Amino acid sequence: MIYFDNAASTKPDLDILEKYRQINEELYANPSSLNNFSKHCEHLFNQTKHQILSSLNLKNDYDVIFTSGASESNSLALIGYVIKNIKKGDNIIVSEVEHASILNASKYLSEKYNIKVSYLKIKSDGQYDVEHFKTLINKKTILVSLMLVNNEIGTIYDMSKIKEILKEYPDVIFHSDAVQAIGKINYDYNLFDMFTLSGHKIHSMKGQGALILKKNLQLSPLIFGGNQQENIRSGTLDLANAYCLNLAIKKAIKEIDIHQKNVQLIHDKIFKYLKNNGDLYELNSKIDDLCYILNFSFKHKKASVMCEALSLKGIQTTTVSACSSHVDSSSYVVKALGKNESIYKNTLRISFSKYNTLKEADEFIDAVETLNMEIKDER
Ligand code: PLP
Repeated sequence: MIYFDNAASTKPDLDILEKYRQINEELYANPSSLNNFSKHCEHLFNQTKHQILSSLNLKNDYDVIFTSGASESNSLALIGYVIKNIKKGDNIIVSEVEHASILNASKYLSEKYNIKVSYLKIKSDGQYDVEHFKTLINKKTILVSLMLVNNEIGTIYDMSKIKEILKEYPDVIFHSDAVQAIGKINYDYNLFDMFTLSGHKIHSMKGQGALILKKNLQLSPLIFGGNQQENIRSGTLDLANAYCLNLAIKKAIKEIDIHQKNVQLIHDKIFKYLKNNGDLYELNSKIDDLCYILNFSFKHKKASVMCEALSLKGIQTTTVSACSSHVDSSSYVVKALGKNESIYKNTLRISFSKYNTLKEADEFIDAVETLNMEIKDER
């Protein structure tokens, strides 16, 4: 099997899986109890937090809230912050290309709390429209949430001008969904007041995520219980998950440059093939986007049919929404780039990891070429 769907989920590393088993076998005490076994687990849990902050090169005014994944972290960041701070203002800004967890949390805030949600546009080059941002921000804005790397097309967003504008609004909290950036690009995360990450995107397991936030921020909890994790996220502290997330972050950051070189070669080979065959494919990703994600559209075929056919050949990709010939593979991100309907309804996303090889890139190209001849044009 060729697995080209790593932006959706990655293969867990064996050493991380082994650590998870070992901790559950040996260090199973509840870290919040008062006996010595528990205290040992609590100590390791706190150490894990510090190691995450240190791997991410964060100053010591940050804290880690462990969650079940990025969807929970994003929901907590938006809903938790806004509910707690609703007296400060009633406007938030998110981009139109955010992950559903941000868009739906925003919708919830708008419908239930009457929050005005402003949607930042992107330009045709994929970058945030800074001039538009200037028109959206105002004295009532309390939170801005902008993703760092786009999960559908791989744009690495330039935050410098946004950050410049935010200097004039020191009370506005800046959150970023950094799920697709962690371990893929070198970045100074001190830029954000809060950011989100997820374990299963960096070769750890599903069910692991974190919201990293400045210690002075006040958030309402979304989950109620025994007041664990600063009363922001209750529930028995999960040492095994926290420990494995920490390991995955440490490894991913340490190995960024090594893996990036290999993935760049795979990406460039396929990118070049798609570009040289412009009569068949429209590239939705640019050459300088994150090399781990490559998005393109079929000009004459239905992407969902191609995705299924590739899958039958053992090549796993995604059309972004769903891999089924009965479903439109419509991408709101590609639509936001200003592309026409036949393009944004026929996107295929391929996404790589350290486990992919150049040979797989050749096999992918061969398979797509063959299918282009075998499958009849639908459009
Ligand atoms: N944010 C982005 C940018 C993502 O790509 C994803 C996963 O697809 C998520 C959030 C949600 O992550 P999780 O599966 O950890 O909830």
